[in-house]
Amino acid sequence: MKPIQDIFPLLSEPRRVVITTHQKPDADAMGSSLGLKHLLTQLGHTVTVISPTNWAGWVNWMPGTKEVLDYEFDRPKAEAVLNEAEWLFCLDFNIFHRTKNLGEKLAQANCTKILIDHHQEPDEPSFDYGISDTSKSSTCEMVYDFIIESGNADKINEEISECLYAGVVADTGSFRFSSTHAGVHRLVADLKARGLQHGKVHDNLFDNFLENRLRFTGHVLLNRMEVFYEYNTVLIAIPKSDLIKYHIKTGDTEGLVNFPQTIQGIKLVALVIDRDEERKWSFRSKGNFDCNTFARTYFEGGGHYNAAGGRSSESLEKAVEQFKIAMKENSTLLQ
Ligand code: 5GP
Ligand code: MN
Repeated sequence: MKPIQDIFPLLSEPRRVVITTHQKPDADAMGSSLGLKHLLTQLGHTVTVISPTNWAGWVNWMPGTKEVLDYEFDRPKAEAVLNEAEWLFCLDFNIFHRTKNLGEKLAQANCTKILIDHHQEPDEPSFDYGISDTSKSSTCEMVYDFIIESGNADKINEEISECLYAGVVADTGSFRFSSTHAGVHRLVADLKARGLQHGKVHDNLFDNFLENRLRFTGHVLLNRMEVFYEYNTVLIAIPKSDLIKYHIKTGDTEGLVNFPQTIQGIKLVALVIDRDEERKWSFRSKGNFDCNTFARTYFEGGGHYNAAGGRSSESLEKAVEQFKIAMKENSTLLQ
């Protein structure tokens, strides 16, 4: 993988570009993809964003979301665009299987592939150019760097600012995680000086849900949360019946995993949701417990040191048992 800087001189020649990201794109995935799209469009490229799957309704406020192709919903169109693409940007993931059914198509695509990502253990041989930096707060921060370093600061408009700021806020836990280095605040100051209305983005991210989601949250915290004080661990397991009863849609469960972290002394929080095709895990930790290794070792997953995800193909009950065994095996690390 050649350094990302090597494509800067090539940006001046218009190309057919596809930008893609991980399945069920969150604010960083969608924000970085659309932020980059708004830049490349201004530079004269023809740009299409393809999402491997659908996304949460609360992402729809981002400028440009309406034109994003959902691969599962509009496969022929997405494949036609991919077949014609000269450049493929892969944002906020680093290995093709994170794009579900789109993965095989991406691997086969006969075009220049460019990675911009901040997760661990990138599949570098799959990309021609790129940057992989786990010290970055978010992929949105990396797209901001891309814009500045390629000499396009003057292209940062309201659309780009809102998209990038949203991803930074989301991935830093509102500037709280240790990934929030000084440069993140400098980035925000710069966007602000260029006219960003940060309050609007916060409203769109955090005050943009329906009543059912709040009632669901209450139900889950009351009835589905188990605290294991001897392991400083909290587990939330959500059966499918809850998702149906509360009309839960993609994205409604986002942020749920953070609530138990407000309990004193909790080091690890695990959330498992009974999705149709798999049991999907989210892990969050504080301090020196490595969620990435934990997710990789036990749940076919990965992510960051303090935030990772994974999956189980077993039933919810079996997945919970599997977790309890893993938790006990990690007893020392959890003290
Ligand atoms: P979340 O819990 O918010 O879904 O994911 C937390 C972090 O772990 C994100 O950075 C996400 O990209 C990563 N992650 C989530 N699920 C998986 C997975 O199945 N495999 C890998 N490698 N990373 C994941
Ligand atoms: Mn991210």
